[in-house]
Amino acid sequence: MGKIAEAIRQGKILVSDGAWGTYLQHKGLQPGECPELWNIEHPDEVFEIAKSYIDSGSDMIETNSFGGSRYKLAGYNLGERVFELNRTAAEISRKAAGKDKFVLGSVGPTGKILMMGDVTKDEMYDAFKEQCIALAKGGADAIVIETMSDIEEAVTAIRAAKENTDCEIICTMTFERTVDNEFRTMMGISPTQMTEEIIGEGVDIIGANCGNGIEGMIGIVKEIRKTDPDIPVLIHANAGMPVYKDGETVFPETPGETASFVDQLISAGANIIGGCCGTTPEHIKKIVEIVKKK
Ligand SMILES: [Zn+2]
Repeated sequence: MGKIAEAIRQGKILVSDGAWGTYLQHKGLQPGECPELWNIEHPDEVFEIAKSYIDSGSDMIETNSFGGSRYKLAGYNLGERVFELNRTAAEISRKAAGKDKFVLGSVGPTGKILMMGDVTKDEMYDAFKEQCIALAKGGADAIVIETMSDIEEAVTAIRAAKENTDCEIICTMTFERTVDNEFRTMMGISPTQMTEEIIGEGVDIIGANCGNGIEGMIGIVKEIRKTDPDIPVLIHANAGMPVYKDGETVFPETPGETASFVDQLISAGANIIGGCCGTTPEHIKKIVEIVKKK
């Protein structure tokens, strides 16, 4: 068993980091600019983000590699630099995390749809494989496959990470609430289906990220727990439902509002809590305050 899952089995509640994408934008990342290229061109800024979460008291931080697959990078003519950009992402977060905190190598969707025949499953596997190997080389303890909506893509990523690295494997999907008040990914997958289909693939930790704010995550965790009472669950919620204001996308949830749901989330069965889009080091600090009282 990997170290993160082991800490959870011992009854610990862990805190993860907050947003990367919206934080990079705050630091000046322009629309159309490749976030992962900042690992090479603005390494100090990327380090500052990682360090600010560690300084907020988080037990783990992600890497700036969410769009680091060859398919995503090809959109910026950087498809040949997968290894360099991902390895550097992990090295930067490793440096911020030191020896005692965990580094989660972030792996987002490829943007290719298997069902549409955009790429074959083998091609997609190879893309995840090269990204995961680079993240592991840079010092990642775990691979976090996140914002997934297609179960086949998620499973392909899990296999690629598991078969080619020694990292712990985390997989989170993004659910929206439907008009029938159920939770589904964009591709129609429920938390129950996710749990049933990916646990057999040897994933260590599962959960949900992004979405419409932390309150909705409580129902998602309850649904996962009905299917599996034991698997460690990680939640990275957005700071509320995004609103468009003065030409900008704004995430309205304050650190205090986010923190006010942490107790319920833990009671529902969540083991690791952090943030997604719009969350800041202040949000993480507030979450740490609540978790420390446990
Ligand atoms: Zn998000």
